[in-house]
Amino acid sequence: MEGKIKLLKNLLSKENKIVITTHTNPDGDAIGSSLALFHLFKKMNFNVKVITPNQHPEFLDWVPGCEQLIVYEKNEQLAKKTINNSNLIFTLDFNDLNRSGKIVENIDLDRHKLVMIDHHQSPNDYASIMFSYPEFSSTCELIFNIAVNLGKKDLIDKEISTCLYLGIMTDTGSFQYNGVNGNTHHTLSFLLEKGIDHNRIYNNIYNSHNLSKLKILGCAIKNLSLIHNKKTSYTFLTKQELKQNQYKKGDSEGIVNYGLSLKNIHFTAIFIEDELEVSLIKISFRSKNEFPCDRFAKEFFSGGGHKNAAGGKFEGTMINAIKKFQSSLKIFKTN
Ligand code: 5GP
Ligand code: MN
Repeated sequence: MEGKIKLLKNLLSKENKIVITTHTNPDGDAIGSSLALFHLFKKMNFNVKVITPNQHPEFLDWVPGCEQLIVYEKNEQLAKKTINNSNLIFTLDFNDLNRSGKIVENIDLDRHKLVMIDHHQSPNDYASIMFSYPEFSSTCELIFNIAVNLGKKDLIDKEISTCLYLGIMTDTGSFQYNGVNGNTHHTLSFLLEKGIDHNRIYNNIYNSHNLSKLKILGCAIKNLSLIHNKKTSYTFLTKQELKQNQYKKGDSEGIVNYGLSLKNIHFTAIFIEDELEVSLIKISFRSKNEFPCDRFAKEFFSGGGHKNAAGGKFEGTMINAIKKFQSSLKIFKTN
């Protein structure tokens, strides 16, 4: 990391107009890392803005600085102008520019210097500086380390700590996944000592559901099926089910994990019909232990992610998506 920090210091020493951006359908790590870096750069007196491709779910509205986000889909003109006026773009929590939605169309690699800060496997090589570290639990944990290596640990206050804690918490399933190690807990210890209200952060995320979310969870549990010989479960949510239960953005988040809470199940998937597109199905995969969700998603469903959590998509009907899932499982080799 040392060499990259040197390059970053050099970039930051120039006159910069900075944009920070993240992936479509931003989650806790995407919003937490973007706003943490935003607050840090503000404290370093940089001209900085955060642009997200589309609206984040309501349960992230409380994150410090959220009201300053520019949402591309809602405020296209301002977003375009801001990107156009910038010369340095930080892309956070993704490793393929296409994950930034329409933002990618406004990036001009001749004019914009790009810095990637991310923890997903197999990055595309598009940035001048690539802080690509799949061994980190979250982009937030990585941002903490970059800030420390930049010599800016003293600037990490309660506000920045709140943003960082959020992303580490959500991307580790509240500190349970394999990506968590001693360094993660050292970082968490530092953040807690800054006086953050960790109980409130937890309640804001996990105990602030809409009734619609629980109703939709009910549908997903009703639709759950098992493939015993493959130690696999799967479920689905149709457009009709989402509509009948007044689906709101973010309602389906985390539901996939219920399929993995069963005894003897090592792999699970949820298929969710896109509410707006005609025949697009978004799929989330989760696994325990060694089952490589990212490889499965990449091989069969044009996706990717991490070993134990990945996503992908399918164009067609729900029945065909599930048929493809079942036949893919039969031919997939886990190693
Ligand atoms: P989720 O199931 O929560 O949407 O995503 C789980 C993980 O897989 C996240 O780390 C996310 O970045 C990744 N992921 C989700 N969808 C896609 C996709 O369509 N393509 C790729 N490459 N990664 C994805
Ligand atoms: Mn992440």
